[in-house]
Amino acid sequence: MNVVRIAGSDASFECAVGESLLDGAARHGIELPYSCRKGVCGNCAGRVPEGEVVGVRGAPMTNETCLPGQVLFCMCAPVSTAVIAPTEWHRIDPGARKKFTARVFRNQRVAPDVSLLQLRLPTGQRAKFKAGQYLRVTAADGSTRCYSMANPPHESDSLSLHIRHVPGGSFSTRVPELHSGDTLEVELPFGAFSLREGERPIVLVAGGTGFAPIKSILDDMARRNVDRPTTLIWAARQADGIYLRPAVEKWQKKWPGFRFVAALSDATDALPEGFVGARADQALVQCMPALQGHELYCCGGPPMVAAVREAALRLGLDPRDFHSDVFVEGPAVPG
Ligand SMILES: Cc1cc2nc3c(=O)[nH]c(=O)nc-3n(C[C@H](O)[C@H](O)[C@H](O)COP(=O)(O)OP(=O)(O)OC[C@H]3O[C@@H](n4cnc5c(N)ncnc54)[C@H](O)[C@@H]3O)c2cc1C
Repeated sequence: MNVVRIAGSDASFECAVGESLLDGAARHGIELPYSCRKGVCGNCAGRVPEGEVVGVRGAPMTNETCLPGQVLFCMCAPVSTAVIAPTEWHRIDPGARKKFTARVFRNQRVAPDVSLLQLRLPTGQRAKFKAGQYLRVTAADGSTRCYSMANPPHESDSLSLHIRHVPGGSFSTRVPELHSGDTLEVELPFGAFSLREGERPIVLVAGGTGFAPIKSILDDMARRNVDRPTTLIWAARQADGIYLRPAVEKWQKKWPGFRFVAALSDATDALPEGFVGARADQALVQCMPALQGHELYCCGGPPMVAAVREAALRLGLDPRDFHSDVFVEGPAVPG
């Protein structure tokens, strides 16, 4: 066991040999920021001012999202006593994360490869989560998959999920077969992708079903009457991938300054008004000349998020203002 202290506090925890800093902290009731837990998203990056850490099972301790001096807390384990400096941390509220047997209430195909799955919690039960967080659903083989809530937190008796059918995917391809009344075991909330309070202009960039947590964030902003200069870029291959136009129209009505750009990378037909023929990162460059002073929230697959990050930093975004949730595929990492 190695004792790890959080810099500037009296909080400490122990990590077993080979246990990641993220897992050791969670086991002791301390939550550090995270999302994918697979060394991709970079949400858990922080510094280790004292002590020595190594990659868990030889994994790389950094990736391109790390700022100088940062390591990924999900991918490194201490080999001595250590002091860590996470970007933020808090004590876990033991009652906050819950397991539910949720019932399918409605299952609609909203795009050729996307299901909008609406679940209801058992009568009288409520889920507590922040807009932008995700749940884990248990698949038939007992492994779990992560899906972001698309509904805002105040709709706490239900859960809306936007699920892309991943070719060959064992869980997502079965989603269209779910019927009203079928049950699913879910656990939530997880993740640290959520809107930071403030007044600065925000840019939200979604790739495909990466729209789900962004919809939750925007619906929550609308509910709380948060009015910040906002640009939404939603990228898909073709026009049918922009599958929930009424939600966007509602925000456009609520906030006259709300800017929406649909970016289509593979469109062959004439583009509808407000659509551009571009990838997400190209659309960002086209519609935002500079990003100094902005916050950017990006969600989608790993290559898309990486390309948007690179473009955003070139446009002057402070790397600390880039927040992302990366839909890394495959079973969720237990813990
Ligand atoms: C934080 C988070 C939030 C997410 N939210 C959403 C969402 O809102 N909507 C959405 O559509 N998707 C979301 N995803 C992706 C989702 O969790 C699933 O990964 C996806 O639906 C595929 O699951 P599947 O069972 O169909 O495919 P799988 O059977 O898991 O296979 C998918 C792919 O992963 C590969 N794979 C399988 N096992 C492994 C492994 N052990 N390691 C690496 N690769 C493997 C397979 O070869 C295949 O290419 C999210 C992912 C994360 C991490």
